[in-house]
Amino acid sequence: MRGTRVWARLAGLQRAVVEDVWIGDEGEVVVSARPVWRERDRCGICRRRSPGFDLGEGRRRWRALDLGTALAFVEGDAPRVSCRRHGVVVCAVPWARHSSRFTRAFEDQAAWLAVNTSKTAVAQLMRIAWRTVGAICERVASEAQRDVDVLVGLRRVGIDEISHRTGQRYLTVVVDHDTGRLVWASAGRDRKTVEAFLDALGQERCKQLELVSADMAAWVAGPVRERCPNAELCLDPFHIVALATDALDEIRREVWNEARQAGQTAVAKGLKGARFALWKNPEHLTARQRSKLSDIQSTNRRLYRAYLLKEQLRQIYRVPPSAAIAMLDGWITWARRCRLTPFVKLARTITDQRAGILAAIQHGLSNARVEAINTQIRLITRRAFGFHSPDALIALAMLSLADLCPPLPH
Ligand SMILES: [Zn+2]
Repeated sequence: MRGTRVWARLAGLQRAVVEDVWIGDEGEVVVSARPVWRERDRCGICRRRSPGFDLGEGRRRWRALDLGTALAFVEGDAPRVSCRRHGVVVCAVPWARHSSRFTRAFEDQAAWLAVNTSKTAVAQLMRIAWRTVGAICERVASEAQRDVDVLVGLRRVGIDEISHRTGQRYLTVVVDHDTGRLVWASAGRDRKTVEAFLDALGQERCKQLELVSADMAAWVAGPVRERCPNAELCLDPFHIVALATDALDEIRREVWNEARQAGQTAVAKGLKGARFALWKNPEHLTARQRSKLSDIQSTNRRLYRAYLLKEQLRQIYRVPPSAAIAMLDGWITWARRCRLTPFVKLARTITDQRAGILAAIQHGLSNARVEAINTQIRLITRRAFGFHSPDALIALAMLSLADLCPPLPH
């Protein structure tokens, strides 16, 4: 009696009875168990008690957390019940999530590691493939979202698109500007996807939205105007600054090509190396990058002008709102006459989008915050490479950025 309780504790089994323990052919520890009486004959999906159907496919094994250095498994019957709502379904077991080959504790630990460590660490430590980690994240995240409603109390959200490489090419993500959390994500980037988010939010909560920020995409603006009567549409500072960075990069490439064609190899090489100095926020520049910039200032006035235009546009998000309007209009006037084609074009875009840009400033949308969450989502997107579906990527993103990650099993 005492022995079986020790094994139940070691294998993390609750509401279950240990029947036997042995060492398998490969040296693995196998703990044979059955659910306690009141946990039996429950539908694996809704856990409702249901009449038995058959014995299913007989005995099954669930991988459990290692015991010391040995692989460990829980073994048990997997009979089927006939649920009123879900039809013939494999019974629920207290130690594992539905249709998983792993115990709950194993999955919680794998999900925690996926959020907190490197890809290699999680796969090697848990001795599973990275793809399997993706499937685990999906199960853990969908259970967490059943328990916690992350859409509660939203007032100011950002809707954005992220490109990725697993399956479909784009995700639409929704971020809470007040908490900096990711609150919703789905494959696709079109009107229908935005409508799916507004459906999930529901009519009442749509009315409570005060601000929706996005890039200039009409597929966001349309449904938001129709369904969120109290929401003001803003342009994400991040995208505006990104437009200026793109324009600057165009000038850099132009200048670089000219130098190369004129046979000025040293100048061309210097320009190539200056890329990061031009992109980076000045407050983060290294001493070398600063000296690169001052070289450009003295040798290449066009490129330096482009750099100043980019920086000046970034500044409108850092001054008080009252000063920002004058600064933005001053910027437009300057950019229109700067004789740098990409910036002249950008001046036109900014003029068209002036209302949305100023709305973001008046609502105090901080670019630093929007940029930070964007960077985090992009990092996770890159890590998720190798997952079999965008759903696994979304699950990992929700676990990491919606605060849904389970604690380590204890
Ligand atoms: Zn059911």
